[in-house]
Amino acid sequence: MQAELPRVLSAGGLTPTIHELLANRVELLPWEAAQGAAADSVAGIFSYGHDPVDELLLARLSNLRVISNHGVGVDHIDVEAARRRGIPVGNTPAILDAAVADMAMALLLAAARRLAEGDRFARTSGATEFDPSALHGRDVHGATLGIVGLGNIGYQIARRARGFDMRIVYHNRNRREAVERELAAEYLSLDDLLATADFLVLICPLSDSTRGLIGRRELAQMKPTATLVNIARGGVVDTGALTAALQERSIYAAALDVTDPEPLPADHPLLALDNVTLTPHLGSATVETRRRMAELAVDNLLAGLAGEEMKCRVV
Ligand code: NAP
Repeated sequence: MQAELPRVLSAGGLTPTIHELLANRVELLPWEAAQGAAADSVAGIFSYGHDPVDELLLARLSNLRVISNHGVGVDHIDVEAARRRGIPVGNTPAILDAAVADMAMALLLAAARRLAEGDRFARTSGATEFDPSALHGRDVHGATLGIVGLGNIGYQIARRARGFDMRIVYHNRNRREAVERELAAEYLSLDDLLATADFLVLICPLSDSTRGLIGRRELAQMKPTATLVNIARGGVVDTGALTAALQERSIYAAALDVTDPEPLPADHPLLALDNVTLTPHLGSATVETRRRMAELAVDNLLAGLAGEEMKCRVV
């Protein structure tokens, strides 16, 4: 007779790869099971998507032994509450850096060269002949890239930007002098970064210190020719202030992989603007990277269930 499998709470929509990796190793319970009698039997949480794992949920799951997050950002998980309860939290850093950095560059280039607008126009009946006056964008080569959050992913973005002949400036709470030397990157205060950057890329975690980091005051310091790229988390930017800046054209454009709220409601004013390029949180979404993320997240989950050390642990 097969031993009882540990019960793991997970939101729906898991890929076939994840189902395959978890098959015969855990019994998956739907997220709603936390509300019912099965709550006491839950040993693990496989966090896929951004369903909040908060104090209230943790209090219901009295036999929880591990939380494994499929992704690097853990702002939807109350990691402090987990730490207080002695529940390890795993995530999937490093393996997705290159894919997310590629996407940041794709967004930057798309906004600078008006790719989405061009695509929309090329499909219309108005696109009848080459028009040298149409859809002029902005130069990327020779421009200054400002990175907020020169961590694992930020470093990969900076490396790619050097290949595009961009000058790199960055802001973190701590300087990274080895990276400054390697990539000729310059450390600036946030205010100086805002005033200097032609392209401002946000790739810091969402935390108490970064929520609403880019608001009305910060947007007002940016150049009217500057583009904001947010591939971090929607909450790092004040959406109302960004919408106003784009409507008033006090900045040139924005490219957003993440928004607050996410997704944007159908009647949101950002959706009506030509100077906004949007992707629905696709930063790490490649077949190869998502496979690696699935393997690491499942590995972390199984290690935690077995009481072993996870490969990648947040707390
Ligand atoms: P990481 O290696 O920990 O780097 C984070 C960087 O942000 C660090 O350099 C950190 O430097 C800086 N930072 C933190 N707080 C800051 C603050 N208040 N002001 C300025 N800089 C600050 O993390 P990572 O792996 O690169 O990932 C970063 C974030 O990207 C994740 O947390 C996640 O939210 C987001 N992400 C998004 C996607 C997507 O699909 N769009 C995919 C992956 C990750 P200091 O500590 O020195 O300040």
